Amino acid sequence: MAATILDGRAIAGEILAKLRVEIEELKKKGKGPHLVAVQANEDPGSRVYVKSQKKTCEDLGIAYTLDELPPTSSEEALLAHIQKRNADPTVTGIIIQTPLPEGVSLPKIQASITREKDVEGMNPANLGMLIYGNPRIGPCTPMGAVELVKRTGVKIEGAATTVIGHSNIVGKPIAVLMLGLNASVSCVHIFTKDIRPYVKQADILFVATGKISFAWQAYSKALKKHQKDPSVPKPPLPDLSPLVTADMIKPGAVVIDVAINRIPEALDANGEPVKDEKGKPKMKIVGDVDFEGCKAVASFITPVPGGCGEMTVAMLLSNTVEAAKMLA
Ligand code: NAD
Repeated sequence: MAATILDGRAIAGEILAKLRVEIEELKKKGKGPHLVAVQANEDPGSRVYVKSQKKTCEDLGIAYTLDELPPTSSEEALLAHIQKRNADPTVTGIIIQTPLPEGVSLPKIQASITREKDVEGMNPANLGMLIYGNPRIGPCTPMGAVELVKRTGVKIEGAATTVIGHSNIVGKPIAVLMLGLNASVSCVHIFTKDIRPYVKQADILFVATGKISFAWQAYSKALKKHQKDPSVPKPPLPDLSPLVTADMIKPGAVVIDVAINRIPEALDANGEPVKDEKGKPKMKIVGDVDFEGCKAVASFITPVPGGCGEMTVAMLLSNTVEAAKMLA
């Protein structure tokens, strides 16, 4: 039987509808949330993200301010700016836009945001609270991914759970959150000799590597080098196949694909992305999982896009409202 698709967009919509009511309540008390985004880059992707953040916040009734700093800002200047916003009683949440200027440490900047205003849940104190379970403010993507599992109604207690990926922002917090729910967790990564047995045993599987993006970016860089200097050998075509395929998973598993890989729709005879009528490469977004294949074997599965990405935004806004409530 085909798996039930976990519709992240619809679930995020339900979460936002609840938040809308809470925001109205806070506003009636004069304590409405005010999110400040700090941006010190001219990255086009980051600018698009900021625009969509602003629109989503304003649609929900959250005040949104963009603090633009020069892309050449020093770490000291950024830290000083964050301290100013930490102390500003009109601000209830602070979010950092990446990439940061060269030489600026992201963990240092994340740690400088006061716990109560840390809507991304990446301050060490908020990350530490994950250990104690049931955090009020937690890292957005892991919280969203685990929320999707909770929505399936599948028994989490004692469930064999595998997390592929061990980054501080995604893999490790997912593992800790699932341990907090009494799942039996294995966390595997690039240094794991063979991920297959861990994947096969999983009743619940989280996949968060970005393996396909890595392969594409490495190839694309090597191809550019070759085009600039033909004495540099042309790279072999990249392996853009999914990390997790249907034969690898346990029948009936819950499969949560957290990855977002932006890769070409197809490569032409020269190994370059096929272009559209405007000459731009035709790109697509895929996860780490062979969605169509795994859909036939899993019990529940997330699509990409339309799964974890949408939940991340919902969790960011949920944290923003939670932060405003704590400060109120
Ligand atoms: P990262 O690069 O920091 O970490 C990647 C992790 O995957 C590492 O632990 C690495 O050991 C592991 N890994 C890489 N290749 C592997 C392989 N072949 N086999 C096993 N493990 C492998 O990345 P990240 O920030 O944790 O993000 C992971 C993915 O999740 C990316 O695709 C990213 O775009 C996506 N992401 C999605 C959201 C969202 O909103 N849905 C948010 C953040 C990140």
